[in-house]
Amino acid sequence: MRSKRRSGQSIETGFGGSSADSCIGGIDRSRSSVEPFARRVGRSRGACRINIQTPDGPARVSECHSERFLQPRRVRAQARGDMKKPLRVMKFGGTSVGDASCISKVVEIIRTASRESDVVVVVSAMSGVTNKLVEIATESEKGDLKSVARILEELRRQHDAVASALIHSATERKCIDRKMQEIFQQVDSLCRGTHLVRELTLRTRDSISSLGECLTAPLVAAALADCGVASEAINASEVVVTSSCHGAAEPLMDLTRERCNARVLPLLRQGIVPVVTGFIGATVDGVVTTLGRNGSDYSATILGAALDVDEVIIWSDVDGVMTVDPRLVTGVRRIPEISYREAAELAYFGANVLHPKTLRPVIQSGIPIWIRNTFAPERPGTKITPTVSPNGGGVKALTAIADAALITVGGPGMLGVPDVLGRTFKTTAAVQANVLLSSHSSSQNDICLVVLSAVAERTVEALRREFAQDLAHEKVEHVTLDPNVAIVALVGENMSGVSGIVARTFGALDRDNLNIIAIAQGSSECSISFVVARKDMKATLAATHQEFRLGATHSLTPPAVIA
Ligand code: ADP
Ligand code: ASP
Ligand code: MG
Repeated sequence: MRSKRRSGQSIETGFGGSSADSCIGGIDRSRSSVEPFARRVGRSRGACRINIQTPDGPARVSECHSERFLQPRRVRAQARGDMKKPLRVMKFGGTSVGDASCISKVVEIIRTASRESDVVVVVSAMSGVTNKLVEIATESEKGDLKSVARILEELRRQHDAVASALIHSATERKCIDRKMQEIFQQVDSLCRGTHLVRELTLRTRDSISSLGECLTAPLVAAALADCGVASEAINASEVVVTSSCHGAAEPLMDLTRERCNARVLPLLRQGIVPVVTGFIGATVDGVVTTLGRNGSDYSATILGAALDVDEVIIWSDVDGVMTVDPRLVTGVRRIPEISYREAAELAYFGANVLHPKTLRPVIQSGIPIWIRNTFAPERPGTKITPTVSPNGGGVKALTAIADAALITVGGPGMLGVPDVLGRTFKTTAAVQANVLLSSHSSSQNDICLVVLSAVAERTVEALRREFAQDLAHEKVEHVTLDPNVAIVALVGENMSGVSGIVARTFGALDRDNLNIIAIAQGSSECSISFVVARKDMKATLAATHQEFRLGATHSLTPPAVIA
């Protein structure tokens, strides 16, 4: 049973540090020890009663009986030893918290889930907010303070509208307004500083771009309280300890585990739902970092692994992992179950339903991940499990990266150039260009590299510099760039066990006059990826989706070759 809490607890807005400083400057321990945290004592409404001591009597024990209890995993973190209920992390992405009506749905999902399990909530910034924050950071560096002011005003209005719609108590509203005001002042100061020095460091960029989540977490916590669910907003910079690699920080799991045990578990024991900012972490010195765009999924599994939860649920705007991005092909189908490897491969090749690093933290513990639809919570979603189901095998899903570029280093003279491959990859590494796919002929006449469009120009320039001497002596004929390609990937475990996949793909594309520029099969045998002209990407996905009957009811790939 949850521990009893006294009524009349001070209701504070915002994060543990109680000041926006804690959002950007990291951990303000001195303050957090003096002031109460952003704790929301829920007012009981409707059927949901929560465990809060009332002024006139003992604590009410929850009257909500769980319909379905999860089976808690056997191996539990010792720190959680006395907690009886299953523990879940539930992450809500930008579209799920996109406006007041979306947040109401989120609140309902959390309220229902918190009847049967302990819940740690992770939230993204409202849809589009991080983009706007990145934009104001860039505009500040350029010196366009007018644009900065305009965008800030838009953001302020957007968040005010949510507060007005969801928070009914005048005291709560005052608190949340004060908190938002602090955050906006913080953005303003950071932008002014950037403008003054006309330089946007990665550190400042992280501080600015992290503030979207700093706005959502207290709003969601307050909205929960408004519906009778005790909750508290936590800035992840208090609990997720990371490397100092700004924009792509990596968690330091031991420290993160310690912090989570100290900060999050006590709240759960008191029946309070922690609402943690996704996307954000902080170095051991408390400097704010971000995990990379779309990184709240990663935050969810980092927290899930640190707290050794029973499951992580990623709530989004789709029914689960689909056979292909529903925005690109019609007639897609939900995949009921998929393995970690398959999901990771899909994410790597551009399926933004998951951040590519999402599976990393849970690989060791085997915690199941679910993808579910915030807007249709009754639907079952997709379960991502450590191993593939026994009847698995063959193509399960497709994905594509649209913003890719193909670089070719080649020419007959290459044969005489020493260590072409080594020099090529050293060069791409030096300019931090991630090579998504590569292929080369055995005589090394041509090396094809596919990189993201954003890094294509600088990669080509670096390769031309590297091979300048060889180009001058015409040993290397060219370093060329095709900026208009896409990568399409077929994903599924044990594809090697099913013959004819490549042949069927070629056949299907040939029928539609679609051309493959380059092809690569990973040694993982979990994906086959190929390069097509960007204009052909959708048609390629549609043709392969149909060829492998992924949209049909009986979608298992027949194991015969149909060439
Ligand atoms: P969130 O705001 O919840 O983080 P994202 O926009 O990051 O949501 O990811 C969800 C989107 O991912 C979907 O709307 C969908 O268009 C896209 N997506 C890409 N590939 C897939 C896939 N295989 N299955 C489901 N959704 C996919
Ligand atoms: N708000 C961040 C982004 O837009 C992180 C996330 O949404 O997952 O990239
Ligand atoms: Mg996302």
